[in-house]
Amino acid sequence: MDGLTRDRVRVAVPGPLRRLWSYSVPSGLRDACRPGTRVLVPFGGRKVTGVVVGFDSEAPTESDPAYTIKPVERVLDEVPALDTELLELTRWAAEYYGASWGEMIRTALPGQQATLRLEVALTVAGRQALGPGVEAISANDTRTGSQDEGGDLFAAAGRRDSVPEALAAVLLAAGSEGRFVALGEIRRRARFELAPDRARALARRGYLAVRQAVDRPGPEAREEAWVVRLPGEAEPGARGSRQKAVLAALDAAPDGLAAAALRQATGGDAATLRSLERRGLIRMEKRAAALRLPPSLESATTLAETALPRVLTAPQSEALAAVDEALAARRFESFLLFGVTGSGKTEVYLRAVEAALKIGRGALYLVPEIGLTPLLARQMRDRFGPTLALFHSGLTEGERQDAWREVREGRVRVVLGARSAVFAPVRDLGLVVVDEEHDTSYKQDEHPRYSGRDLAIVRARGQGAVALLGSATPSVESWSRARSGKHRLLPLPGRVGGAALPRVLRVDMRREFQETGRDEVLSRPLRAALEDRLGKGEQSLVLLNRRGFSTFAMCRACGKPIECRSCSIGLTLHRRENRLRCHYCNASERVPADCPSCGGGPIHFGGTGTERLEETVTSLFPRARVARMDRDTVRGRGVAERLLLRVERGEVDILLGTQMIAKGHDFPNVTLVGVVAGDALLGFPDFRAGERTFQLLAQVAGRSGRRATPGEVIVQAFDPDHHAVRAACNHDYEGFAREELRYRRNLHYPPYSALALLVFRDADFDRAREAAGRIAAGMRSAGQSDVQVLGPAPAPLERLRGQWRVQVLIKGAQRAAVQAAVQDATARIEAAGLRPDAVAIDVDPVSTL
Ligand code: ADP
Ligand code: ZN
Repeated sequence: MDGLTRDRVRVAVPGPLRRLWSYSVPSGLRDACRPGTRVLVPFGGRKVTGVVVGFDSEAPTESDPAYTIKPVERVLDEVPALDTELLELTRWAAEYYGASWGEMIRTALPGQQATLRLEVALTVAGRQALGPGVEAISANDTRTGSQDEGGDLFAAAGRRDSVPEALAAVLLAAGSEGRFVALGEIRRRARFELAPDRARALARRGYLAVRQAVDRPGPEAREEAWVVRLPGEAEPGARGSRQKAVLAALDAAPDGLAAAALRQATGGDAATLRSLERRGLIRMEKRAAALRLPPSLESATTLAETALPRVLTAPQSEALAAVDEALAARRFESFLLFGVTGSGKTEVYLRAVEAALKIGRGALYLVPEIGLTPLLARQMRDRFGPTLALFHSGLTEGERQDAWREVREGRVRVVLGARSAVFAPVRDLGLVVVDEEHDTSYKQDEHPRYSGRDLAIVRARGQGAVALLGSATPSVESWSRARSGKHRLLPLPGRVGGAALPRVLRVDMRREFQETGRDEVLSRPLRAALEDRLGKGEQSLVLLNRRGFSTFAMCRACGKPIECRSCSIGLTLHRRENRLRCHYCNASERVPADCPSCGGGPIHFGGTGTERLEETVTSLFPRARVARMDRDTVRGRGVAERLLLRVERGEVDILLGTQMIAKGHDFPNVTLVGVVAGDALLGFPDFRAGERTFQLLAQVAGRSGRRATPGEVIVQAFDPDHHAVRAACNHDYEGFAREELRYRRNLHYPPYSALALLVFRDADFDRAREAAGRIAAGMRSAGQSDVQVLGPAPAPLERLRGQWRVQVLIKGAQRAAVQAAVQDATARIEAAGLRPDAVAIDVDPVSTL
């Protein structure tokens, strides 16, 4: 790159506008200011953290707004935060998902904003005002409107119409030294909270000058002590038992152990470690705190069998060989590993990671949610030691930053994480595993709405890497890609060791009601089966995918449901907190004594959620140890992990909960799975309702009978003959997929079409509909014949968080055409001057609610 082109750069800033901004580079920053580095730049009167995405080679002209471009203020990274590959991936993703490059980069680099502080100094006018005539400022200043917050300030803190004495003193003192004071310093020294907005208001009135300074270029790193065994022999006999325990623990951990965990496990204290270090038997070192497992996992005992090396089964070997071959050839290839739960997919993923490491390449392992896979985290820690980093939601910003740095600098070669880990800067990426590829949590449900799974494939393609997707219940899109040869199908037929798939009993709840005349939550067969397991000391899971106590609240007199004030959705009773809660916006209200609509009638709380189910189960089986797992009981760090561990250790007889209990746990002693309302999801007006239902039932059924004891599954449904329910109960994925694909083809839904959804949102329904209509009409008039523009139409979920929602659906046979239409739509939305949050752009939506 010649010097001429390096004096200006293009910068992506984290705002909604889909364009880049040019900045000049002061000569002192030329070397540091490279593509991928974060920079602090002036932007709209403030300073923001942007990322240099390239050099700006076009010469500025006088008509070019760039003619007056401002200089980069500061370079925040020594090593670029994003390498060329990740820059390209974020650019591609931004374009594909209808976001700005800056927004996509912000998503990829979570929490890496510089922390800024506001500093102020008195101006000449300010100094004069604080001189002898201080009291006059506010009273005599005709510009002081009563709404002006700056004016307020001068009336604050006791002395009406004057600046508090302490504040004036601090400002004057700094002024006499000719320096700016940070608001934090004012807080400390004057005990006065000068809010940033007030400072800015005073600046507008000419009393203060304000500026932003960098506090920290990014979140702080956090390191902790690790202990590594050195080769030296311990002289026999001379050592205390604690020292022996420490050495023994370290002998079993070639990569070392976190000092805290080591102390806890062996009882050795700091003195023990110092003494061993002096003798040259161990070495202490600092490592990024983020490399540690969450504490709830670190202290967990690993199930003995999980660590054992194994001989692969023939289908596992074949699958691995195919992956190995592509890896070695450095060729992009995508695979779909398809096998029922318990067929040994995890072992194939882990071996594939090992294979990548062996040839010196790195690996990414994506899971829907880390907290729900503690066993996997432990297995991976056991196998990959400190070369593994976990990107989980329990990390602080600083720890995340640390983990990022360790990965970028190549000390960590394997990353385990959820969706956003797809952006982890793994060096020479050879493999991306996408476990449970069908899981909808791979799709981000807020802007930018990207799919971690699909980006994993895009990233692998760009890197000549292998994408290894796997599931017992693949999404029908991935399945159809496997059938057309875009993914290579790697089947794992049957369970490892030949464990039988569980017997599945379908219970028709209509018949159950007719025969018993009672509206019970648990059918007779399910109650009997639970009783039986309790007697044998075996464990059971009961799934009900609806949290809360009731599922609806209705007036007995007028029949009106009680709905959320800001969403078109009924409220759910949460009895423990005794409030009605909206499951979409989480707003809650007091339980009304009488109907809010008619003022009369008692309120009826109908339907059953997990909270009521827990009550029912507890009263039916008073001696059973019952635990509930849903978003209400699992809040905060490590709660899910601890609960799962209790189940694993056999401290729970019946675990009930929402779909959280259906995810890939491997509980050896669970022999019964019950499903309450197995067809509840079918009621949703969404084209994926059947697929969701099948997946949920098949996944939860797979939790049963994973060992020698055969499992049993009991599914209660009102429509037990629906093809999704029937196929799931027969363990028949292929039958389900056949039927589902036929339905999708008839209605031109994915995979037989590509979709993009635009949701226009406004507090006023007509405004939302009008905006949607204008954009849709514009798109139609552009006359793209290869896409259909459907709508505007009210969304099935009409109102959410006080906003009306109106949809426009773009449908086309080819992704490329839909892509072009999305580009066209975003340009029109920008040109129409709609607020960026007024339209949600969802490419490849997982749901059209
Ligand atoms: P999946 O991921 O398909 O649900 P897992 O990989 O969890 O299946 O395997 C199911 C069980 O079988 C686990 O307990 C695992 O340890 C065990 N297992 C996997 N592969 C083998 C093998 N080759 N030999 C013996 N046991 C195995
Ligand atoms: Zn609501």
